Amino acid sequence: MAYKKYFTLSYDDGPKHDRRFVSMLNERGLKCTFNLISGSMPENDPDSWYISRSEAAGLYRGHEIATHSLNHPHLEQLKPEEMDYQIREDIRNLSAIAGYPTLGHAYPYGTYSPAVIEVLRNNGIRYARTTRSTGGFAVPKDPLVLNPTCHHRDPRVLGLIRQFLEAEPEDGDMLFYLWGHSFEFDKDEEFNSWTHIERVLDAAAGHRDVEYVTNMQFFDRNKT
Ligand SMILES: [Zn+2]
Repeated sequence: MAYKKYFTLSYDDGPKHDRRFVSMLNERGLKCTFNLISGSMPENDPDSWYISRSEAAGLYRGHEIATHSLNHPHLEQLKPEEMDYQIREDIRNLSAIAGYPTLGHAYPYGTYSPAVIEVLRNNGIRYARTTRSTGGFAVPKDPLVLNPTCHHRDPRVLGLIRQFLEAEPEDGDMLFYLWGHSFEFDKDEEFNSWTHIERVLDAAAGHRDVEYVTNMQFFDRNKT
């Protein structure tokens, strides 16, 4: 069996900036997982900083909606029943919005503990992203401790993409995993701006030997 290369993105918090970001992804055929805080999402308010519940299904269609907890606490500091509530309610709200079971997760603040992982597992969560960049392309060993390749503001990002595109997957599938927050692009810094992310997306997109997938599509890749 020939091994493959996969490219995925993971963007957090569901801010209004996702509208512009989603259209940039759609223009290039890229797939992203959006980790939403359902407790912060208004029912229907076009002026809200957070994308509304009524808008989310349409906006994120073709991508993936995943959990980021109900209220974005440091989960590992909560009692187990509070952890469970934060995850269970977020899954319930987001699944109702998305129309499919939202069983992906990104850890709020990137922090977790064995107890948090246990709660995720008990709630059927399939994968959970940390904020620890590896700079590598190996398929994560433990999907519940999913370390990304890099953040978009990592000065190495364009070099890493080039390295990924030139590499041949000889020892197994390869994954380039980019993460961040779309509101950061407004900072307008050298490696953290709309111009920078445009360059990054242009470099990553449109390669025939790369499959562009959401996080869940990546973990489902060997299913028929
Ligand atoms: Zn967050």
